[in-house]
Amino acid sequence: MHLDNHTSQASDLLDPSIQGQAFDDKNINPEFSKKYFIESYGCAMNFSDSEIVASILAQEGFKSTTNEKEADLILLNTCSIREKAEQTVRSRLANFNKLKAKKPGVLIGVLGCMAERLKKKFLEEEKIVDIVLGPDAYRDLPNIIATAEGGQKAVNVLLSREETYADISPLRLGTNGISAFISIMRGCDNMCSFCVVPFTRGRERSRDAYSIVAEAKDLSQKGFKEVTLLGQNVDSYKWLNPETNEEVSFAQLLVMVAKVDPTMRVRFSTSHPKDITDEVMYAIRDYHNICKYIHLPVQSGSSRILKLMNRTYDQEWYKAKIDRINEIIPDCAISSDIITGFCTETEEDHQETMDIMRYSNYSLSYMFFYSERPGTLAARKYEDDVPLEVKKRRLSEVIRVQNQVAHELNKKDIGHTFEVLIEGNSKKSDQEFKGRTSQYKTVVFPKHENYKPGDYVNVKITAASPATLRGEIILS
Ligand code: SF4
Repeated sequence: MHLDNHTSQASDLLDPSIQGQAFDDKNINPEFSKKYFIESYGCAMNFSDSEIVASILAQEGFKSTTNEKEADLILLNTCSIREKAEQTVRSRLANFNKLKAKKPGVLIGVLGCMAERLKKKFLEEEKIVDIVLGPDAYRDLPNIIATAEGGQKAVNVLLSREETYADISPLRLGTNGISAFISIMRGCDNMCSFCVVPFTRGRERSRDAYSIVAEAKDLSQKGFKEVTLLGQNVDSYKWLNPETNEEVSFAQLLVMVAKVDPTMRVRFSTSHPKDITDEVMYAIRDYHNICKYIHLPVQSGSSRILKLMNRTYDQEWYKAKIDRINEIIPDCAISSDIITGFCTETEEDHQETMDIMRYSNYSLSYMFFYSERPGTLAARKYEDDVPLEVKKRRLSEVIRVQNQVAHELNKKDIGHTFEVLIEGNSKKSDQEFKGRTSQYKTVVFPKHENYKPGDYVNVKITAASPATLRGEIILS
């Protein structure tokens, strides 16, 4: 997923308005002298990693700030999923030139997927950068900072087959105190031909199941009401307990986390159509607090294009998974990722994509046109031959289909009552709350003095748009 958010292979489960937002933590001893400013881009995995980085920096006596002018260390946790994501980082770095001119001692560092993709080249291309650190090298941050403080540029982009940061408790940054991410695995063994993730995040490895349960317990004790289990492909989670030789599958892990606190919702992202099992679907069906929502990226509806994408399933297989989800969990919402204009895509292929969107009845989708990524299989083997204006026209057509499908779905919710977890004020009015159903649908409704963010409330739906449900509280 996006926890994309890659086309979003890893969908971004964070509210877009948080993208790039600096973090602040108030419970670090103000005596600590040095300050860091961190900004995260891309998928939820990157946001979760920034919380690991913050925890490591706190151990080193750093305190975070939201004002880059105050910082001794500025870190950008970068995304490389599309060309545009990298452009965003480059223009952000350009902003720091003036700041660096005024404060030559400030260190500028880049983390994440773009750092891993470019490695040392980043230093040549962006002279302002002092530190380049890949997603598996965050433990080395203290050494890297010491080297850079000594006036040398510092790089560590080694990928690991073991690293899961299981023993580092994330420092929750910019949190609403209600929802939190828990990273359950790192890397990806799939080799989708358009994707850089296997090159920037390395081979798959699953985190110790008991460290995940402990993190969920800690969050429950701190009053969090929702956790999202993160991985590029959570369905291939498999952890072998070295002491007992017991193997923990993703379905088993889901149940272990759900049992921690029945009042704490459990979500996860991202699933893969070739690996999702009936056992995962039964777990969702059988535990009220495992949310009735699955993000199941399809990318394309054409079996011919799916083959070129090396997605390892075809149209029939995907439709069979949709049928199985509807059979086992009838009230489950499904979302997806769509890429338009992949190499050699014809109007017929494009039509099949729109057909599978209608067939799957997606409640939402992350939709992008194909952006060739250097070093990927597709970049090496296929010509990026679909003209940009055709890619964009097809993108606007799938967005139209998605809005139609989502609106029809949401209209069917009118008159029904849903359990909603209040997340905070609605964007448009502080007289209204915003929250989500178990199906991950956004609901906006007038406030009531009995309730506050973090509470569950029953809301009767009175109106619907493609993206939002409106309703009124049903007092129990
Ligand atoms: S290689 Fe495929 S499954 Fe893995 S992160 Fe990329 S798109 Fe997702």
